[in-house]
Amino acid sequence: SKSPVRVAVTGAAGQIGYALLFRIASGEMLGKDQPVILQLLEIPDEKAQNALKGVIMELDDCAFPLVAGIVATGDPEVAFKDADYALLVGARPRGPGMERKDLLSANAQIFTAQGKALNKVASRNVKVLVVGNPANTNAYIAMKSAPDLPAKNFTAMLRLDHNRAASQIAAKTGKPVDAIEKLAVWGNHSPTMYADYRFATIGGQSVKQLINDDVWNKDTFLPTVGKRGAAIIAARGLSSAASAANAAIDHMRDWALGTNGKWVTMGVPSNGEYGIPKDVIFGYPVTTENGEYKIVEGLDIDSFSQERIDFTLKELLEEQDGVKHLL
Ligand code: NDP
Repeated sequence: SKSPVRVAVTGAAGQIGYALLFRIASGEMLGKDQPVILQLLEIPDEKAQNALKGVIMELDDCAFPLVAGIVATGDPEVAFKDADYALLVGARPRGPGMERKDLLSANAQIFTAQGKALNKVASRNVKVLVVGNPANTNAYIAMKSAPDLPAKNFTAMLRLDHNRAASQIAAKTGKPVDAIEKLAVWGNHSPTMYADYRFATIGGQSVKQLINDDVWNKDTFLPTVGKRGAAIIAARGLSSAASAANAAIDHMRDWALGTNGKWVTMGVPSNGEYGIPKDVIFGYPVTTENGEYKIVEGLDIDSFSQERIDFTLKELLEEQDGVKHLL
């Protein structure tokens, strides 16, 4: 049988954490034959650590056969020690009256510290997924704070945007969601992301031809996917958590276990692909194999798509600019 791998999760007592940990523990992320040691980080204050204890009591009470150990801590160097996977979920939410730049700098501090801790103690092959917002910029900060780890190990979650786009396309075409191939989401995990179905197919048929409605694309599809998070808050009174956790599972599972040629979306550091400046953490279509992702290259970018890509890139560059003095 396989030896256990170490999975670190930050913000483990939050609502995404609550929807995530039980699925990691049951083997949905890394396989039903892969034991895991959960290394859970929460802010050191007593309330958060107590909440974390409660979550661990529930994990214990599930008696998951794959759980080989659970560590609870307020110290990133304990949580990330020898970690093979790190899911950075905890982040500072925007409080009342908080400006965007305050949010950026509060999170920059968290992700600088966590990047340094990963750099110091994690496995040299650690696969890092940033979920906490602003996810792309937080991933960029962690990556820049971990100069001894390969930059390619730092990724941000665009998979929820990808899954949301797939679900809208399935509803529009009346086709099963898992029949959709070659969907891409470009850019920032924010309402500026560009979900692009120009290359997508369903059972070999072109999605663009099936839908055949550029007005729907521009005026309905893109705003619906872009504002989905806000729509869920309006309906539920709480932000999306189960679907965010599900996307994190999908992202890590596909990265670790491969997609068999299927395209998925990941936020990954650019090496200049599609004209995106090096190191910007950008949503790209990728395939994965043997624990490595590969950006799908050579896709034609038409003028509408270029405009959208430029727009989401501009936002990302502004975010980076807002934190550069901290790096
Ligand atoms: P959630 O678990 O709901 O959200 C966590 C983060 O995920 C937020 O930054 C949130 O962004 C982000 N996120 C990304 N995509 C989505 C999405 N599609 N839908 C919803 N959220 C998304 O937050 P909670 O407040 O319930 O829990 C956060 C926990 O993190 C707390 O327990 C807190 O103590 C902890 N924390 C831990 C830190 C650490 O470990 N060092 C540091 C900071 C906090 P958004 O805010 O934009 O919704």
